[in-house]
Amino acid sequence: MHEIGHYIDGARVAGTSGRFGDVMNPATGEVQARVALATPQEVDDAVARAATAQEAWAKVNPQRRARVMMKLGQLITENMDALAEAVSREHGKTLPDARGDVQRGLEVVEVCMGAPHMLKGEFTDNGGPGIDLHSMRQPLGVVAGITPFNFPAMIPLWQLAGAIVCGNAMVLKPSERVPSTALMLAELCSQAGVPDGILQVVNGDKAVVDALLDNETIQAVGFVGSTPIAQYIYARASANGKRAQCFGGAKNHMVIMPDADLDKAADALVGAGYGAAGERCMAISVAVPVGADTADRLTEKLLPRIENLKVGPYTAGEDVDYGPVITAQARERILGLIGAGVDQGAELRIDGRDFALQGYERGYFIGPSFFDRVTPDMDIYREEIFGPVLCQVRAGSYDEALQLVMDNPYGNGTAIYTADGDTARDYAHRVNVGMVGVNFPIPVPLSYHTFGGWKKSGFGDLNQYGPDAFRFYTRTKTVTSRWFSGIKDGGEFNFKAMD
Ligand code: NAD
Repeated sequence: MHEIGHYIDGARVAGTSGRFGDVMNPATGEVQARVALATPQEVDDAVARAATAQEAWAKVNPQRRARVMMKLGQLITENMDALAEAVSREHGKTLPDARGDVQRGLEVVEVCMGAPHMLKGEFTDNGGPGIDLHSMRQPLGVVAGITPFNFPAMIPLWQLAGAIVCGNAMVLKPSERVPSTALMLAELCSQAGVPDGILQVVNGDKAVVDALLDNETIQAVGFVGSTPIAQYIYARASANGKRAQCFGGAKNHMVIMPDADLDKAADALVGAGYGAAGERCMAISVAVPVGADTADRLTEKLLPRIENLKVGPYTAGEDVDYGPVITAQARERILGLIGAGVDQGAELRIDGRDFALQGYERGYFIGPSFFDRVTPDMDIYREEIFGPVLCQVRAGSYDEALQLVMDNPYGNGTAIYTADGDTARDYAHRVNVGMVGVNFPIPVPLSYHTFGGWKKSGFGDLNQYGPDAFRFYTRTKTVTSRWFSGIKDGGEFNFKAMD
């Protein structure tokens, strides 16, 4: 059995704990590898080595660090297909989707090439007699990154690029379900010129996370995953005096107004609802048509599109729309939620529960499901399903639709489809959600903006990537200096004389 270890001081190493997790092939249900689960001692050693390496890296000038990002970007581009294949092999998503996963991470690396500009600080000339002030951004030291299974390339890159280019060392703990891509990225970092020890990848489970949270050398923690774990990590990291940004789950709504182009809205809903088997934190999981007529017309357009979706393994070719979900447990949970939806009175217009694929009977596939007439008290509305299930909640008016979204505890992304600029503008201004799409279903901001949800989708002050990454991964020091040659007549400025 293939064994996956860690990446320490610029090289792959085997784990020493004797504990392993199974890495499944979600398409076949077979174990494809074993991943080492590190001990707290292995974590502490990795952190200590990172701290030693970071002292020298912090002194490298920002332009040289940016050049390493340039080289990394080039290497990621050259290795795009191999990285995408690693993503698909462990996650199960289609190859076009996996290439998108790598591409969106690469775009963050590209923004980090501009680090010298972002790190150059502020200066006030002559803030008082002979007095100048300057503020500089200094790296934090060693930081931790803890990432989820659903974007094995993108989210590690979001975290590691910003952390490293700012002069920090990062200890990255990828999801134990998809450990290979992070190790490949670490190798590319080394080839690009990231010094040994500046990116340590420690595989493992809760024991590794807790060791990182309690390690006194770790200065900041970036987490992306489900809301309960985000809250736990935010609380424990903060209690230990660390800077923390923790991004959680989501329930993203699309409001469809009566004047919307319903063909475009239906296409967008199918892509955003079922793409990657619904395992995206920015997936649209709730359609909210406004008015009974809009709901009926939209439903007629959705049904054939959903029925035509092609489900299969990533190896079956590029016309597959989505693959399996991540684990047998995830599949059981999603099937259970669909059953609860039926029991609680939602109208299951398309039932994906009995989906079977010849030759892949043990894989974690689920056919697309579509519920109409969902109400906010139902489990399928209250829980993040994270599967290929779209729920339709009918709203009587625009205000009712807006209120529904506002009342939802999650606030990651949302979209509105309309032909009316006034309505779109009103929605974008009033809705309490971090990322909004206008006639745009998955509004993940480009890499020079920032990414972050509100309410239970994000804990901490700063967003991920873009300008916020340079703020999160540095701390500001302000120096006030006085040089006496600037003070004429041997004395302080006479404020009284101004009166
Ligand atoms: P998860 O919370 O189960 O795991 C995320 C990470 O936390 C993994 O590295 C895992 O090993 C670790 N972890 C799991 N349980 C832990 C525990 N008890 N204590 C400490 N660490 C623990 O999430 P997942 O299933 O890998 O990813 C799916 C979730 O991530 C969804 O809820 C999705 O919405 C969310 N997500 C959010 C964003 C965002 O930016 N808001 C992006 C992607 C995914």
